[in-house]
Amino acid sequence: MKITDIITSPKPSLSFEVFPPKTSDNFESVMQATEAIAELEPSFMSVTYGAGGGTSLYTAEIASRLLQKNVTPIAHLSCISSTKEQIHTLLADLKQRGIQNILALRGDIPQGMTIENPQYRYASELTAEIRSFGSFCIGGACYPESHPESKDGKSDIESLKIKVESGCEFLTTQMFFDNDILYNFMYRLLKAGVNVPVIAGIMPVTNAKQIKRIISISQNALPQRFVRLVDRYGDNPLAMRQAGIAYATEQIIDLYANGVNAVHVYSMNNPFVAQSIRNNLSEILK
Ligand code: FAD
Repeated sequence: MKITDIITSPKPSLSFEVFPPKTSDNFESVMQATEAIAELEPSFMSVTYGAGGGTSLYTAEIASRLLQKNVTPIAHLSCISSTKEQIHTLLADLKQRGIQNILALRGDIPQGMTIENPQYRYASELTAEIRSFGSFCIGGACYPESHPESKDGKSDIESLKIKVESGCEFLTTQMFFDNDILYNFMYRLLKAGVNVPVIAGIMPVTNAKQIKRIISISQNALPQRFVRLVDRYGDNPLAMRQAGIAYATEQIIDLYANGVNAVHVYSMNNPFVAQSIRNNLSEILK
């Protein structure tokens, strides 16, 4: 099934993300977590792609296994360190496995590194390539608080416009902790004529260590309400997990209530977190 068919139906959607293992030793434990999350009957599941790392090998395999479990998968694919030939091989593999949905990404450039003459400079170039390759449903990433390399929000939205014109059919957001930031961003998208569906990405913060990493990769604004919660419970792992799940649940309910019908949870291979959120929304999702 195509992601666009799922997220444009009137029913609210709730989907989860998993990431592949770095080494084959961990493949089975990741599969166990993936299958436990698949049991929750999510609207779809995404499988991330490790640019340049060994994990890229497993993305297609995990996505295929989800398909066998009757869960619609979306395989992430990044391009900055890939050749056209490598991308064509990966696309042929995804097609042959029956995977219909791809999240087309540029990928991160490791700090201090420059990539000489990349064959793809931007996700939009990968998107155009996938579009010419066949009938995949293609999504892309977007950043309610702007991509860290963008000079400002306006130019970031101009880049999104190019991505959509290249064939991107929906956008999934980077995590955010203040829903007003998303509502404002969606308004700016519409004003700029970017009118593909947007899936809101929600990260349940379940341990204090995650916060530092989150801020380093995404420059998220952290509302006082959220900071107080981490200050109070950060040293108590079980309390922090409970508080983080409650905060994420509250964000999701507010999103649905305000008409943002598609929510993707960065569940980080954690079935407990996915299940808790699913349970908290059991009546809302009926
Ligand atoms: P792009 O859309 O190419 O944008 C990158 C930068 O270039 C932005 O600043 C943009 O404004 C600018 N830009 C874009 N097009 C143009 C243009 N034509 N002219 C000038 N400037 C332009 N990374 C992984 O490695 N694997 C994953 O699985 C993965 N999954 C992700 C899922 C989501 C939902 C998100 C939000 C991010 C994910 N990432 C993943 C991280 C992502 O690869 C990085 O954030 C990366 O830095 C940018 O990728 P992009 O696809 O958004 O790039």
